[in-house]
This record gives sequence, C-alpha cells and structure tokens, in this order.
Amino acid sequence: MLTTGQGTVAHRRVTPLRYVPAVARLFLSPPDVGPRDRELLLDAFDSNWIAPLGPHVDAFEREFADFVGVGHAAALSSGTAALHLALVLLGVEAGDDVLVPSLTFGATANAVAYVGARPVFLDSEWATWNVDPAMVEEELATRARDGRAQPAAVIVVDLYGQCASYEPILASCAEYGVPVIEDAAEALGATYRGRPAGSFGALNVFSFNGNKIITTSGGGMLAGDDTALIERTRHLSTQARDPAPHYEHSEIGFNYRMSNLLAALGRAQLEGLPAKVARRRAINAAYRAAFAELPGIGFLPNAPGGEPTNWLTVVTLDDPTPVREHLEALDIEARPAWKPMHLQPVFADCEMRGGAVAEEIFRRGLCLPSGSSMTDADIARVVHGVHEALRG
Ligand SMILES: *Cc1c(COP(=O)(O)O)cnc(C)c1O
Repeated sequence: MLTTGQGTVAHRRVTPLRYVPAVARLFLSPPDVGPRDRELLLDAFDSNWIAPLGPHVDAFEREFADFVGVGHAAALSSGTAALHLALVLLGVEAGDDVLVPSLTFGATANAVAYVGARPVFLDSEWATWNVDPAMVEEELATRARDGRAQPAAVIVVDLYGQCASYEPILASCAEYGVPVIEDAAEALGATYRGRPAGSFGALNVFSFNGNKIITTSGGGMLAGDDTALIERTRHLSTQARDPAPHYEHSEIGFNYRMSNLLAALGRAQLEGLPAKVARRRAINAAYRAAFAELPGIGFLPNAPGGEPTNWLTVVTLDDPTPVREHLEALDIEARPAWKPMHLQPVFADCEMRGGAVAEEIFRRGLCLPSGSSMTDADIARVVHGVHEALRG
C-alpha cells in the first residue's frame, strides 16, 4: 500500500512517499546470512587483509577441501572463473570439442567459448535431469569407431542440487581417456553413492553466487586431488607471475582470485552449510507433501543412491505459465527451468545430440522459492498460491 503523510496541513509534517509492502517479496533463493557471517567479515575488514590474498583465503580453501573430501581447493572470484580455468588447466584449446549437457546455466557453456573450443551439447536423462550417461557413451564410442578425435573434456553438471549418474559416466570417460570437469555449482552438500558432489571430476567447480547454497556475494572454488593442478590454479588466477623481484610472465594469467573479505564470509557460510542443506531438504519435503493430492504436478525426481541438496525445488506442470504468473501477482518469485543451450540463439550453430528430454523439462519445469531462510509461513504462502492457481 502507498502511504503519504495524510495529516492536516496544520501538522506540517511531511512523511516521504514510501512503499510499505503488506508482505515482503519471496525470492527464489536469497542469501542466508547471520551474526556469524557478519563477525568473520568484520574480522577480515579490521585485519586490513583487504586483498585477493590473506589468512581467510588460505583457511577457506583448507576447510572447503576437507568438507568436500578432495585434496586441494583454490578460491576464485566466481564459478564461471573456475570453469574457465578448469578448461585452461586441462589444456582445452581452440578447435577442440567439449561435451556439455544442454540443460544447464549458460556459464557452463560460455566457459567453453572462452577458450575457443566448441561445445557439443547432449540431452538429459529423466532420472536426474542431468546429462544422459548413454549419450556420453554413444558419443565417445562413435568417435572412436569413426576414428574421429575425442572431445578434450566432458563437463558434467549437477543440476538443482542433484548429482549426475557418475558411475556410468566416469566409466565411459575413463575408457576413452577423456577428462571430466564436474560443475557442482548447484550441488554443494549433495552426495552420490556416499561420495560428496564436487569430488568426481579431475577438476571440480563450485559457485558462491548470491543465489547459491552458500554465498560470498560472488565467488567460486576449483577443487581436485591433483596438487600440481590446484597450485597452477593459484598461479594462473593471480596474473601468472613468475618468481622474480620484478614482474616476470612466461604465460597468460588471469585476475580470478577471491578477496580475503569474501573468503571470511565463505568460512562462516561453510560452518552453516549442514543447517542450510537440511532446511532446503525440509522445504522440498514440505512441497512434496503439500502437492501430493494435486493432479498434474510432478517433481524433479530424487534419484536412488543420491542425497540431493534440493538447491531449488522444481515442479513440472503441463503449463507452468499461469502458475508462475499467479505467484508473481502474489509477489512470489518462481522461474522456468533452465532453457537448454541448444535453443539459445548464441549457441545456435553448435551440435546437439537428442534434445527431447531437455526441451520438455524447459517447457514444463517451474522453480519454486527454496532459500534456506524461508520460514514455515513462507512455505505455506507458496503452497497456498500454487493451490489457488491450480484449483482456480
Ligand atoms: C551458478 C552457476 C555457475 C556459475 O557460477 P558463478 O559463480 O555465478 O559464476 C555455473 N554453473 C552452474 C550450473 C551454475 O548454476
């Protein structure tokens, strides 16, 4: 409602025109921060380590690597920077092919373009909505049979907080000697057959963007067991400066390192990760229970053998548009599923294998508010809105 100072002229008190929302807008996945985040951020500030290096960067990397169960991690300015460096580190070059699931966020495919390589898009499987392992196998086997070059890498993405089907994917990639990059930007805290998301690739990518499971406002991590690769990540991400008193460079570097301020925030966020994941799972369970009786509504499946983080709860509907618009009218943010890369104008010239599954997920998928700071009343508000939209 709009309020103005409606007092009599005699009062002469002018209240500025302001908007007082009856209830706050409910966002898809807003940052979830508290006193501990503030404390560590201010600690970094007060220490004057206000630079892309410092004790919080080192500590965040160690704590993060331990959590994910990989040997090493390098803190970077974004998940996109981590994807770019992963491709550089694996020697992917102009003219190479890289296999990429079509159903993903644009950053995954953009990174392939940064190094001048060509993404070859693959369709999803219904079980996880992630890349179809049969398509990976078929692509690699066909290339081997035809005597064509293998892709320089395969990027596997763990969408919406659920791991891809790594057992068959890793077996195929190992057979043909193709390195795997895991894009676990949406899946920190998930597991697949007991192993953490972000531990399956030769290099593993995480994001701490404002809408992710934990956030540093913007930030990312590149993690892996290979000491030399992660050492090289730190070197390349700080302008590739060689040891010398002056600035000596023998290769092209990047300015991709994470700030110490943001690493402090990341450490506090990581402490809170188990609780944040538990809350996202509880939100997913609440939606499932609340919509169980509604006809025509489905969910992104929780595949057996995995424990997703439920970064976003995604429902499927014959026509999600009226539901999205009704929620929008209630000031509730909902968003279509990722638009497949093979349908994006910028990748129109790229090759695509299959596509029916990714296209149907895009046509029918709707992401609901899923942030770990949601209250039970917030969940009830979304549930009520969806019921209203579907029952009329
Ligand atoms: C968020 C995201 C990224 C990019 O991470 P940024 O930190 O925003 O650069 C990459 N891949 C996927 C699947 C994502 O969801």
